[in-house]
Amino acid sequence: MTDVPLPIRKSSLMMYRHCPHEYEYAYIKQFPGIEKDFAMEKGTEFHETAARFYGNIDFPFLEQLKNEQEVTVYLRNVLPKNTTFDVLLDNFATFEAHRWWILKTRVTTDRVKFFKPAYIEQELYAKEMFGIKGPFGGRVDRIDNLTSGEFAVIDLKSGNLPRIVDFRAELAFYASIANAQQFTNPPIAHIGGYSPKNNEWFFERISPHTTTALKRFILKFIDEHEKRTLGQPAFEREIGIHCIYCAFAGDCLFGSDIQSWERIQRSKYFTWDNHKGEKKDV
Ligand code: SF4
Repeated sequence: MTDVPLPIRKSSLMMYRHCPHEYEYAYIKQFPGIEKDFAMEKGTEFHETAARFYGNIDFPFLEQLKNEQEVTVYLRNVLPKNTTFDVLLDNFATFEAHRWWILKTRVTTDRVKFFKPAYIEQELYAKEMFGIKGPFGGRVDRIDNLTSGEFAVIDLKSGNLPRIVDFRAELAFYASIANAQQFTNPPIAHIGGYSPKNNEWFFERISPHTTTALKRFILKFIDEHEKRTLGQPAFEREIGIHCIYCAFAGDCLFGSDIQSWERIQRSKYFTWDNHKGEKKDV
């Protein structure tokens, strides 16, 4: 392997996926990183709260509740109040109450086992996967037991869910590391995620196509390091909407890029109030 920063982690792979040039700045040239902003801090706090949640539930009491509404109220009370992310916690409690109620009405034994994650904030590590030398690493939010006897990797997002094609790759990466290290028996066969912000969720069985696409993507990632070592063009820029959030835009964009950048910036601040077009009074 060439100069690939090791271990290969989900965060580096996903940055490369958005923009190879951004990845080069951050992980190879190691330019100073992104400052922790409010959204990131809120995300971390939400994840820590969600991780503590299951340990604070009184399950014998939960079992006695008579309907989904009571469960929702109880679970919301288990979570902290008056935080900067109360709306996320309201939705999270409602979502988990619904999941509990489905288990309550359909599963006669071991409901708690299927409700509580089997592993929370689990660090995964594999020296090799798909026959590709790593090592590979990642910290997954949850690994859940399914009533089918299988396992699922689950990720919570405090913001919007990513594009499904990206989210699928991210989750399959975690599952593949876990399976390469034989972390669960049987191997992880499902991937899923939930965003309380928009109450969106995603869940599916890992398909052979997903695994093949992930393997191909990792090989491309490694190959690009090889090209850079040989002095060939590599880690090209991908100018787009994601440039708004890029910490390296000041170093990266120049000349006519700046005009596109300003256009993108303006679109970020677009609202109906500042829109200069056809705004009609009602
Ligand atoms: S500004 Fe845009 S093109 Fe440049 S590194 Fe960042 S994301 Fe990539």
